[in-house]
Amino acid sequence: MENRDLWLAPLTPQERSGLKEAWEKGEQLLKPPIVLKQHYKAWNQRTFEMLKSVFGETSSIVKDFEEAVQVIPKQHGPNKFYSCPNGHQFGSLVPICPHCGKRGREDSTRLILMKQIQVLCAEGWMLPADPLDFFDEFDPDIRQASLPRFKDEHYADAVSAAFKEIETQVKNEFKKRENQDLYGTALMRKAFSEKSPVFKLADLNTENGRNIHKGFMFLFTGSMMGIRNPHGHENLTLDLAEAKHFLYLADLLMKKFKEALGKSSP
Ligand SMILES: [Zn+2]
Repeated sequence: MENRDLWLAPLTPQERSGLKEAWEKGEQLLKPPIVLKQHYKAWNQRTFEMLKSVFGETSSIVKDFEEAVQVIPKQHGPNKFYSCPNGHQFGSLVPICPHCGKRGREDSTRLILMKQIQVLCAEGWMLPADPLDFFDEFDPDIRQASLPRFKDEHYADAVSAAFKEIETQVKNEFKKRENQDLYGTALMRKAFSEKSPVFKLADLNTENGRNIHKGFMFLFTGSMMGIRNPHGHENLTLDLAEAKHFLYLADLLMKKFKEALGKSSP
């Protein structure tokens, strides 16, 4: 497997929770004064295999994780960790086993484990602030139109592309039904008109439904007037946070439109 580019292929929720679990299990192993070797070995094996399958065999996180075992760290501080010839492990000021009285040798399992946990955490995979995570929930057409531009930090462009995609889809479906080419605000007013809408955005038999339909008609029309056109024509700049909010609106409108398509017969 090739090494993973997290920008192109963000972690799935399953992978994320798998990594989180490995990290939490590692922390649990550290809690008692003695790190049980067989538990550590099982954890090390499992975590190593998972990292390879998630990030790729030659990824830096896999290398660092492996190196933590190979380069035995030196213990610092007065309270060191030892293992005795009978296999007891103990943390103590003196290398005398409290269980059998034999002299122990410095034990590095705890230090290796701590180092490996650091490696696990250093990659930042667990941060919920992955700037692209929110795309996962988006309509696939919005994602396809906007994600590449968003990734290149062309935020206004990404927003414009999302609303253009909405316009294109409404335009095409409208033309199929009405055999008429309309664009922008005129298209939205006609496609979602109050009196005889081509696409119904709510149940028009109730007053509540009619209000919802009308409200969304204004949102579609307004998004052409206030978002798609200005961002398409001028060099407006948006930051990441602003762009996200516009994209959420685009996603909502796209989903709403597709829902209406399911309801309106061509
Ligand atoms: Zn002992």
